[in-house]
Amino acid sequence: MNNFLIVVCLIAIFSYLARCVVEWVNLRHWLASSVPLAFQDAIQEAEFKKAKAYSRDQFFLFFAEKTFFFILSISFLLIYGFGWLEYFIQTIFENPLWQFYGYLGILFFVTSILGLPFSIYSTFVVEEKYGFNRTTAKTFLLDIIKGVILSIFLGGLILYAYFWIFNQFAEWAFLIFWTFYFSLQLLLLYIAPVLIMPLFFKFSPLEDGELKRKIAELANRCGVDLAGIYTMDGSKRSSKANAFFTGFGKTKKIVLFDTLVEKFSEEEVLAVLSHEIGHYKRKHIIKTLFLSSISSLVIFYLAFWVMREPLFSASLGFQSVSAYSALIVLVLLLPSVSALFSIPSSLLSRKHEYEADSYAVEHGFGKNLGEALVKLSVDSLSNLNPHPWKVFLDYSHPPVVYRLEKIK
Ligand SMILES: [Zn+2]
Repeated sequence: MNNFLIVVCLIAIFSYLARCVVEWVNLRHWLASSVPLAFQDAIQEAEFKKAKAYSRDQFFLFFAEKTFFFILSISFLLIYGFGWLEYFIQTIFENPLWQFYGYLGILFFVTSILGLPFSIYSTFVVEEKYGFNRTTAKTFLLDIIKGVILSIFLGGLILYAYFWIFNQFAEWAFLIFWTFYFSLQLLLLYIAPVLIMPLFFKFSPLEDGELKRKIAELANRCGVDLAGIYTMDGSKRSSKANAFFTGFGKTKKIVLFDTLVEKFSEEEVLAVLSHEIGHYKRKHIIKTLFLSSISSLVIFYLAFWVMREPLFSASLGFQSVSAYSALIVLVLLLPSVSALFSIPSSLLSRKHEYEADSYAVEHGFGKNLGEALVKLSVDSLSNLNPHPWKVFLDYSHPPVVYRLEKIK
């Protein structure tokens, strides 16, 4: 076994263990907690127990999937599977572009198939058991088909750009690829709500009535030009509720999950929306984009430098450095770097949540927002008392208990 392979295995072992330990500590912490003060009037003992049982089931599913893929990838590494696959692909295709697509296509296909039982179990066993699932087998299947078509189309496009830039440019490849990647991200922000989301959900204008009038009034009061207020059939897949704001400039839309409109009072819906408007008004999307553009630039710089190192490709069993061997080297090393960037980005995101809450409070929705947050957490059987490590590592939203305190 060579040095680089040892490093890659150590990274995989460390990130697997660290993940599992954090999830386990988080679960233990939650199972041992009593009802937080802010929830005492809102949650029954039976519901509280159910929320804990839900977290426990989710943990075991997470653990099973993580362990399965961990064992699989370590074994694949140790038998030099990446090299064998290269040999296989090279006997089938001669054209480098087809070798590239074939190689990554097989890996994508196999990992998707292997992940499928876990996603079926999650939707039709775990979510079903707690009454969240509303996905039919037909919707589930159609979602997979649409997802695959979308990944082939979008993934194929990104990979083509990568392949071309990798082979065409040397030292500036990272910058050229970053420019492409970042522009695509911007473009997707615009087109996703118009072209991609409608593939999965049905949007319909909110019916005329008291709620619509009040939303329009709120938007007006906050100085937001709205192109429309829509509902989305989230209930086709899950009973969990949500709302979001999409588009820029003149195309701004508010989208409410039908489950939100069904289960929440008008005042609560307005409170949730004022929080979303807060995100928009405080320019959170732009700030997040700025941070992610910087971190992706640094990652690409390091990545293109490491990826081209012939020693690394050779250690994994590849015959030479190619666009796909470089990508595999990157994917194997990424977990060690990406944590460094995900921590500040979730920190920023939590800060933004507080700011959006305070925007809602300033507009007189403090009390209703508090009630809506309690209701959302109780309804979705959330962990009401997450462990600080877990929050630090990946909570994009602060725990509701902290948010309620600040709102007060
Ligand atoms: Zn928010």
